[in-house]
Amino acid sequence: MSLIFDVKRYAINDGPGIRITIFLKGCPLSCVWCHNPESIEKRVEKLFTRSKCIGCKACVERCENHACTLTKEGILTDTNACLLCGKCAEVCPTGATQMSGMQYPIEEIMAIIKKETLVMDQSEGGVTFSGGEPLFHHEFLVKLLDECGKEEIHRCVDTTGFTSAKKLLEVASRCEHFLYDLKVMDDEKHKQYTGVSNAQILSNLQLLASTDVNINIRIPLIKGLNDDDENIHQTALFINALHKKPLMVNILPYHSIAQKKYEKLGRIEKFIKMEEPDIACQKRVISLFESHGIKAMIGG
Ligand code: SF4
Ligand code: SF4
Repeated sequence: MSLIFDVKRYAINDGPGIRITIFLKGCPLSCVWCHNPESIEKRVEKLFTRSKCIGCKACVERCENHACTLTKEGILTDTNACLLCGKCAEVCPTGATQMSGMQYPIEEIMAIIKKETLVMDQSEGGVTFSGGEPLFHHEFLVKLLDECGKEEIHRCVDTTGFTSAKKLLEVASRCEHFLYDLKVMDDEKHKQYTGVSNAQILSNLQLLASTDVNINIRIPLIKGLNDDDENIHQTALFINALHKKPLMVNILPYHSIAQKKYEKLGRIEKFIKMEEPDIACQKRVISLFESHGIKAMIGG
């Protein structure tokens, strides 16, 4: 079993066709611009939305560990007493209290995926495993990919690339498509903004490009952080030196909508507002890639 924090049906930007995307919880990176902060921790978490709380105290009464207290600021949870059992979320009538991260056995995930077979077949879509970092759950991911393979479901993996070459190749031999993140080429900046070096990520992409899988490269674009001409130029040179070019470079403009998620998690101090790239910035980056002969687009 592994922790799943979301399932997205009818996804049109997570690989070819219409897809079902399974989000696995836990990531070895901690990107300062992360718009899915609930994906980082590899454990169940409790979320609270103050604006949805009607003060009914159902959660307070349900908690056998007396971990919930109703205050003027809403429900406060004593994290030392809380066992993350989720009983408070079950009785919350408004969804103010929610849990993030559910343990699913393989059979249950496969049943969820197989319900989408018709849509996937008609659109030449499939399933995408995303995160967090799906390769953080390597054994579980391999089993899921094998099960999807038996059903002839098209398989895509959305990865940071921060894993061992062995694990990456094991996964690559079981799927048809990769969405592969490249964030910033300067390693010191990469360490500063993601918490890890990009050396393994870059060498893994070189390795992946020598296999049969199709690759889309995804670049989160943050103004003032990685939109400079030098970074785009270095990224383009790296891509052009790969054994096989990606099908597309997808530019994903940063947006600051994640602030509310950090509030829900009680981690607002971790939210760092970055600068959103304007249209002119996005166009400049696209044309820089095109000037290197690389197909690039916004979104996807
Ligand atoms: S998750 Fe369980 S232990 Fe934690 S506050 Fe809710 S009911 Fe109490
Ligand atoms: S059960 Fe939900 S709405 Fe009621 S007090 Fe608890 S968090 Fe607020």
